[in-house]
Amino acid sequence: MKRVYNFSAGPSMLPLEVLEKAQKEFVSYGDTGMSVMEMSHRSKDYEKIINKAEADLRELMEIPDNYKVLFLQGGGSTQFAMIPLNLMNKNNKADYVNTGQWSKKAIEEASRYGKVNVVASSEDKTFSYIPKLDKNTFDPEADYFYITLNNTIYGTRYTELPDTGNVPLVGDMSSSILSEKVDITKFGLLFAGAQKNLGPAGVTIVIIREDLLGNAMDFTPTMLKYDIHAKNGSMYNTPPTYAIYFAGLVFEWVKEQGGVAALQKKNEEKAKILYDFLDSSELFKGTVVKEDRSLMNIPFVLPTEELNAKFIAEAKERGFVNLKGHRTVGGMRASIYNAMPREGVEALVEFMKEFEANNR
Ligand SMILES: *Cc1c(COP(=O)(O)O)cnc(C)c1O
Repeated sequence: MKRVYNFSAGPSMLPLEVLEKAQKEFVSYGDTGMSVMEMSHRSKDYEKIINKAEADLRELMEIPDNYKVLFLQGGGSTQFAMIPLNLMNKNNKADYVNTGQWSKKAIEEASRYGKVNVVASSEDKTFSYIPKLDKNTFDPEADYFYITLNNTIYGTRYTELPDTGNVPLVGDMSSSILSEKVDITKFGLLFAGAQKNLGPAGVTIVIIREDLLGNAMDFTPTMLKYDIHAKNGSMYNTPPTYAIYFAGLVFEWVKEQGGVAALQKKNEEKAKILYDFLDSSELFKGTVVKEDRSLMNIPFVLPTEELNAKFIAEAKERGFVNLKGHRTVGGMRASIYNAMPREGVEALVEFMKEFEANNR
């Protein structure tokens, strides 16, 4: 069996140990004689799986007791509507920071339900930085304040959270969950689709402070109400049982790696290997300002489109796949999530050095 180094932005690489464990349990889980996929979501066996997954995530992220953890469907994108439907419930307005395509989609969706105040944007420079925030531009009457913690497409991340006072901070951490420590208590709501750092696509994790539950707009569909899912322990309807099981295996793996702080250290080292090379190279160039560089998604370019295409093709032949950048940035993007081993980044950089020597 040959495994490639997969730099896909999502769905993305998963830890081999986890894939192998799932493979072992695929046909019969424990002594149940059936696959997790074939279990009733209300069975005792499945209850243990989902409860363990939640407990492990709570431990890993140090989630306080006054927060609910929900396992939902619909991807990160459904949250773009669920958040305003459930939280834009006092003054019918919210503050948003526009740091890329995912924020933009969130803004568009929220605009359907209330007034959106875009407090800052980095669109003027193709989202290559996190805009400086001025508290005076924040609306103290906003129902919440929305940020995208890690911008998967543009390769930026917040290193400092805005101080929003009593306005609940809402964060999209689809591409950085469990990659670095976050202080949950700074947030009213955090969410992440699974397919970047947590497992296969199909489950979305929402962490929501309990006092924010229960005031959804009247016309909110039942399935889009956080309180319905909270009251029913994510079992109002059939949850994505296999995806939750798989995310649970990833949580166990993260614990085995030493937890989030240990992974953060590894991730910082991995990212540094690539950024140091980009900073020293005369051919390759990073596209993001240094202080806002993502640990997870690293876009870079070569001087010409021809060289970009040549690099991507040659990299693929050598087992480095899915390096093509997003169409709005061009060039390349290496997504190096938790599951990407350090050796994968080192090997990529070795290959980049070789490519530079041959194409000067
Ligand atoms: C991938 C991604 C999304 C969208 O997730 P889907 O599950 O495809 O809806 C939203 N936000 C960020 C930051 C992402 O990386």
